[in-house]
Amino acid sequence: MIYVPIELQEKIIDYKYEIEHRKNTNNLLNKIKKKAIEFIYNNIEPFEENFDKNQADYMMSYITKCNCCNRHKEKRPTLEDYRNGYCPEYKTSIINLKYTCRCPCRHIARDICRIMNDEILDI
Ligand SMILES: [Zn+2]
Ligand SMILES: [Zn+2]
Repeated sequence: MIYVPIELQEKIIDYKYEIEHRKNTNNLLNKIKKKAIEFIYNNIEPFEENFDKNQADYMMSYITKCNCCNRHKEKRPTLEDYRNGYCPEYKTSIINLKYTCRCPCRHIARDICRIMNDEILDI
């Protein structure tokens, strides 16, 4: 057995608590930021006239980190994709009720890419 003095034990417990606390705070902060982005996306339009590339970049950096479920992490554009000018194809997706996660992260990430990266054709 290793003897750990009580003061040290207390310190270890304090550190553990601090780490947990920081983790929880960060999670909460990320949730709030994600909600804020959702709100902006749904309520402020037209998006491209209100936000520039850097602001969209900032939003993408959060929305692309969403951990809601595995399905939404698949084929979700990354921040790198966005910066490289990636524009997902426009397809009408059918809402599949068999999936329970209703998180809009992938939808918003794709749409920001389309809005900011697609070329505007003057005909
Ligand atoms: Zn999801
Ligand atoms: Zn999500």
